[in-house]
Amino acid sequence: MRSAEVIIVGGGPAGSSAARHLKAAGADVLVLDKERFPRHKLCAGWITPQVLCDLELAPEAYPNGFLTFERLHFHAKLLHFKAPCVQHSIRRYEFDAWLLERSGAEVLEHTVKEISADAEGYTLDGAFRCRYLIGAAGTSCPVRRALFAQSLPRSRALQTATLELEFPFEWRDPDCHLWFFEHGLPGYAWYVPKARGWLNVGVGGMAERLSARGESIRIHWGYLAAKLEREFGIQVPEAPTGYSYYLRGALEGVRSGNAFLTGDSARLATRDMCEGIGPAIRSGLQAAKAILEGERYVLEDATGASLGGGLISRGMDWAFTRGAM
Ligand SMILES: Cc1cc2nc3c(=O)[nH]c(=O)nc-3n(C[C@H](O)[C@H](O)[C@H](O)COP(=O)(O)OP(=O)(O)OC[C@H]3O[C@@H](n4cnc5c(N)ncnc54)[C@H](O)[C@@H]3O)c2cc1C
Repeated sequence: MRSAEVIIVGGGPAGSSAARHLKAAGADVLVLDKERFPRHKLCAGWITPQVLCDLELAPEAYPNGFLTFERLHFHAKLLHFKAPCVQHSIRRYEFDAWLLERSGAEVLEHTVKEISADAEGYTLDGAFRCRYLIGAAGTSCPVRRALFAQSLPRSRALQTATLELEFPFEWRDPDCHLWFFEHGLPGYAWYVPKARGWLNVGVGGMAERLSARGESIRIHWGYLAAKLEREFGIQVPEAPTGYSYYLRGALEGVRSGNAFLTGDSARLATRDMCEGIGPAIRSGLQAAKAILEGERYVLEDATGASLGGGLISRGMDWAFTRGAM
């Protein structure tokens, strides 16, 4: 039996942030991930300056390069406006591997299946033992399944369906484009160029509303592919792949004894833009802090709204989950 004071299940942004913070404080920490890094992760890879700040990362210190956007193009039906901004794009394939390595924590390739709890701690697959357990394994996190299924129910109304593709492409337009509500999509489509000749394109929408319309997200992928060809001269080279995650619900119930849920496993992505990297990192840091300092696990400051929480934020949330398209 392999023992560690803290075991983190999942080495994405939530897991690596928790691992780095714990490791820096001298904790005995082990990360288990089902994949060997670098691994593919479906994600547009748009990150905010707040994410860099939380990661204590200066753009020039990141070896794989950011692309920085000075404006975002918002398209909604006939409306098009360019919002000045400073935002960045990264490739998750590179970014997650770099963050995990930077954490300094030991990482083992292992798919966690069974977890049991007793008075002293947790046993994973009869092979690992820990006093503190952090669930950071995304939507299908086994920690959530084993210890939180009752206390942290998920609402189908907040489940997303997505399809995306990332491929090498010599893009000419260096800006990020977002198309909202096209063809009645309860969500948006994106074009996100990346440094060193990569492009990420995709569509995401609320799963329950799509199925109420008798639609699959694939129809909207078809609309996007046609638009990219028509307006950008891009022919998508292969079929996309999909992933589903949940947007933020109530924050209670994300801790049980010495077990914590973080990131997508705690369904923390913002309701207005479906941004999940920032909340994953914040929650990983907060879980580490709660363990190290014996504090409450507080998620109130994990980015709840990408657009600031005002009228526009609330309008987006409403349009995704309830509004007429
Ligand atoms: C198509 C798409 C586009 C997105 N675009 C953006 C965006 O542009 N910006 C943004 O901020 N957010 C975006 N998101 C959301 C964002 O990707 C997630 O919210 C974020 O990755 C959550 O991080 P995490 O660390 O919680 O989980 P993950 O990044 O999913 O990491 C979980 C890790 O757990 C491992 N794991 C899973 N199961 C097990 C197991 N049983 N045992 C061991 N390990 C396991 C996985 O291999 C993985 O490495 C997007 C999501 C999708 C699907």
